[in-house]
Amino acid sequence: MSTVETPPRVLTVAGSDSGGGAGIQADLKTMLMLGVHGMSVITAVTAQSSLGVQGAWELPVEAVRAQYRAVVDDIGVQAVKTGMLASAELVEAVAELISGTDAPAVVDPVGVSKHGDPLLAASALDSVRTKLLPAATVATPNLDEVAQLTGVQVESEDDLRRAADAVLEYGPRWVLIKGGHLPGDVAVDLLTDGTDEYRLRFPRQDNRHTHGTGCTLASAVAAGLAKGLSVPLAVAGAKDYVTKAIKAGFPLGAGIGPVDHGW
Ligand code: PLP
Repeated sequence: MSTVETPPRVLTVAGSDSGGGAGIQADLKTMLMLGVHGMSVITAVTAQSSLGVQGAWELPVEAVRAQYRAVVDDIGVQAVKTGMLASAELVEAVAELISGTDAPAVVDPVGVSKHGDPLLAASALDSVRTKLLPAATVATPNLDEVAQLTGVQVESEDDLRRAADAVLEYGPRWVLIKGGHLPGDVAVDLLTDGTDEYRLRFPRQDNRHTHGTGCTLASAVAAGLAKGLSVPLAVAGAKDYVTKAIKAGFPLGAGIGPVDHGW
């Protein structure tokens, strides 16, 4: 009998990026690098290049449920990460699945890509607020997603806590507001559960090849949680990983290249 240990298992429930930079592909690369076994439930397939999303096709809810059950019922998971969920129907099905799973869930409430391509139907926003966010151990919205979900416009670091509190109203245990789009030489993220608060500051990287940043960060948080780290330590480790991956991001195609996992 083998004496090799089974690594922690992490499941991503997200969309496929045919260009390999974001979505499921970024998630699995991150998980491999962080020493956990990555598994995937594909919610949608995108035809995507460095120039943006050329097309997107959702999978039937039944196919998403079947993938999830196959993985969770046999292999088991120590953490789940959700990304692109495309429609209200899929958001609601995934919220129900993760609510019924005894593992922490990192919810990246993906709305629109860097190129401005919609990855979530406008009609799904309410399901994200009332079904998905309450099932999250950590939600990781960027500033555009915060504005869409709560109406709070963050213009400076002073607004971050108000934004976080507005997201916490929907019920996630923790929220990580990604302030990377704020002006300035230092990128500030805020992590809070409403009581404890951490501000993570990192020098801004002068690199436009950042495709897949959000997916990578959320997957790295999930990997940390699967290894048994607390939320603040998992987030700190994930921030460090994504900062290095952005620094190493490389040109690809004619547009925006991906973060690099092989730094
Ligand atoms: N494609 C898929 C399938 C995604 O899940 C995401 C982000 O979550 C993106 C594209 C967008 O990536 P970015 O905004 O980093 O370019």
